[in-house]
Amino acid sequence: MPPLLSVEEAQARILERAQLLLVETVAIEDAAGRVLREPARSTVDLPPFPSSAMDGFAVRAAETPGELPVAFRVPAGTPAPGPLPPGTAAAISTGGVVPEGADAVVPVERTRDLGARVALEERAEVGQHVRPRGGDVREDDVVVEAGVRLGPAHVGALAAVGVAQVRCSARPHVAVLATGSELRPAGERLAPGQIYESNRPMVAAALASGGADVELLPVVEDTEEAHREALERGLEADVLVTTGGVSMGRHDLVRAIESELGVEEVLWGVAVKPGKPLSFGVRGATLVFGLPGNPVSSLVGALVFVRPALLARQGATEPGPELETGIAGTALRRNTQRDEFLRARRVAARDGVVLEPVSGQESHMIVRAASADALVHVPRGDGEIPAGATVRYLKLG
Ligand code: AMP
Ligand code: MG
Repeated sequence: MPPLLSVEEAQARILERAQLLLVETVAIEDAAGRVLREPARSTVDLPPFPSSAMDGFAVRAAETPGELPVAFRVPAGTPAPGPLPPGTAAAISTGGVVPEGADAVVPVERTRDLGARVALEERAEVGQHVRPRGGDVREDDVVVEAGVRLGPAHVGALAAVGVAQVRCSARPHVAVLATGSELRPAGERLAPGQIYESNRPMVAAALASGGADVELLPVVEDTEEAHREALERGLEADVLVTTGGVSMGRHDLVRAIESELGVEEVLWGVAVKPGKPLSFGVRGATLVFGLPGNPVSSLVGALVFVRPALLARQGATEPGPELETGIAGTALRRNTQRDEFLRARRVAARDGVVLEPVSGQESHMIVRAASADALVHVPRGDGEIPAGATVRYLKLG
C-alpha cells in the first residue's frame, strides 16, 4: 500500500473529481432532499398586501381608545371594500386585507361588541398586528440560493412565494455491490463458513439520505469472472460503491479488475480507522469507491467519503460531512498513524453534548455500532484527548 493520505487530502481529491449532474425541473412537492441548481425567486411580495395578524378591528391608532361605528367587515380572501372612512373601524379576520387608511388592528379580545359600534378599550400603537406588504420577502428577491439542499421549510417558502417548480440537480444513480464468497443475503440459510451480507442495505441507507437513487447489485463471488461482470454493470451508474476486496489478500480483486475495465485509480489507502484500504477512482464521470468489507469500515467510508461526493455531484455548496461540536465524555487515546471515528452515544448535558464511546470499537462490530448515534473524530497524534475536551463528531442516523 502506498503512503496513507490524510482524511482531508482524500476528501479533497474525491471532491475534485465530482462532476455536476444534469439539471432538471422538479415540482416542489417532490423537491425535498433535492439540491437547488438555480436560485428560486419570489413571484410576489409576501404578504402580498398589508394583512391582519389577528381577528379584531382595523382602526386609525390615533382614534383609539373610544367607541367607533363599524364601517364594514373584511373576511380573509376578499379585498377591502374601500378605504376606511375616518372615525370608523372595520371588523377584520386574521389574514384579512387591512384597508387603506387603517394603521393598526385591535384584537377582538381587547374590544366590546356594541352591535353596529365597537368599544376599543386601549390606545393602539401604529402598526400593531398589521403585517406589512413585503415584510417577509419582496417580489423577485431570492428565496433559496443555488446549492442548497431543500428541507421542509424551503419547500414551504417556495410554495408561499408562488413557485410551483424548481430547477434541481438530477439525483445520482448509485450502484452498490458487495464482494465476498462468504456472504449470504439476510433471509437465506447460512451454510458453514458463511455470514450475512450487511453492507449493501447499510450503504444504501447511508447514501439514500444523500439524495442517491440506489440500485443494489447482487453479491459477487471472489472470482475474476464474477467481478468483471458485476463491476462492468456497476460502472454504468453515476457512482459505483463496492464493499470488500480492496485489501492486500489474494481474494481482493476489486482494484485489479476495475483497472482492467478502465478505471483510473485516484487513491488507495487513507489514514483513517476504521476504513484504511479505501480506494477511489474514476471512469469518465463515474466515481468509483471501494469500501473495505468490515461493516463499520463500510459505514464510515460511506458517510465520510461517499455521501459528500454525491452531494457535490448534485451541486451542494456544503457537501459535508457536517461535523458538530461536543465534549469528550472520557479520555480518548489517539492513534499515532490514523484519524479515528469512534462510535459514541450523545448525552445532553448542561454545557453541551457529551460523547460517551460505546464498548466494542472493532470494525466488524456493527451491532455495537448500532447502539451509537455519533462518530467522534479523533485526529491522529500522540497521547490522548482528555475527558471534557472539545471534540467534533458526525451525527449518525
Ligand atoms: P474484505 O474487505 O473483503 O477483506 O472483508 C473484510 C471482512 O468484512 C471479512 O470478515 C468479511 O467477511 C467481512 N465482510 C465483507 N463484506 C461484507 C458484507 N457485505 N457484509 C458483512 N460482512 C462483510
Ligand atoms: Mg472479501
